[in-house]
Amino acid sequence: MSTPLGPAAALRRIAFLLERAREPTHRVAAFRTAAAVVDTIGPEELDRRIRTRTLTDLRGIGPKTGAAIVQAHAGEVPEYLARLEEAHSELVPLADDVAEFRATLRGDLHTHSDWSDGGSPIREMAEAAIGLGHEYMALTDHSPRLTVANGLTAERLERQLDVVAELNAELAPFRILTGIECDINVDGSLDQTDELLGRLDVVVASVHSDLRAESAAMTERMLAAVANPHTDVLGHCTGRLLIPREQREGRRQRPRPESAFDAEAVFTACAQHDTAVEINSRPERLDPPLRLLSLAVELGCRFAVDTDAHAPGQLDWQGNGCERAVETGVDPDRVVNTWTADELLEWTAG
Ligand SMILES: [Zn+2]
Ligand SMILES: [Zn+2]
Repeated sequence: MSTPLGPAAALRRIAFLLERAREPTHRVAAFRTAAAVVDTIGPEELDRRIRTRTLTDLRGIGPKTGAAIVQAHAGEVPEYLARLEEAHSELVPLADDVAEFRATLRGDLHTHSDWSDGGSPIREMAEAAIGLGHEYMALTDHSPRLTVANGLTAERLERQLDVVAELNAELAPFRILTGIECDINVDGSLDQTDELLGRLDVVVASVHSDLRAESAAMTERMLAAVANPHTDVLGHCTGRLLIPREQREGRRQRPRPESAFDAEAVFTACAQHDTAVEINSRPERLDPPLRLLSLAVELGCRFAVDTDAHAPGQLDWQGNGCERAVETGVDPDRVVNTWTADELLEWTAG
């Protein structure tokens, strides 16, 4: 959610989300009760109570609800609400225009299976995508260099192509598009053989290393990848991480800032080479940030609204990306995964 709500509305929204998350009823009731108290006392009294720090003297308002009231009253999104929305993004209802935008999407161009660092077999990912009403899903497991994510060697990727072909015969008309999330090497080249990249339906190119490089070097590196004829989508362009995240084997990644690069040059090249800019929907990424997304819109880029799902449930995260697309005025016609699989394949082959 991006627009802060008034205190009572914020409390009700918290109650609503707690309820949908099946939290204990007394917790839900506490926020509903507090909302009712705020309604009863009126804005002047609320103001006075906050100034004199006597809010929690009121029956029905405790430390947690009180803190949320104070923050909402100050025009902020209460911390409690922000955390809740982050943890349960799948429960956050979409605004009508966002829901409409999302309904135009026919598939997802960035997903992982247990062949690299995803948690589930390809079939389970595909079945979940079918359940969401998708017509296709590009399977984009990691490339060899990314050993921490069990990146696929050329041999393993060859084998995966056979597995996908078998699954496709079974799951038709749904289509698993073959693909890769290919590391952009430090010199801007792609981390897989030309021959294999040429055979894949969808190539997402992403930076995963040397994220703190100098802006000039990072820009050169990204420009080379964007201009590579195999590249279809530029993945999570800034590499930022907004919140810590758990990785395999208990590793924990700390938040990190955006990489530095000349976004205008990179997005101009994306428009010129017809490489789509990914709108990454993962809650810890939400990449590109809104100011860069607006810039990409302005420069006439195409986009792909992707989940970067590493588990079946995460395929449902596209709403996050759609929310940001709507906010920055992305035209659904510019989003390549609103197209049919045939249209899309014609584009990626071009
Ligand atoms: Zn990635
Ligand atoms: Zn990924």
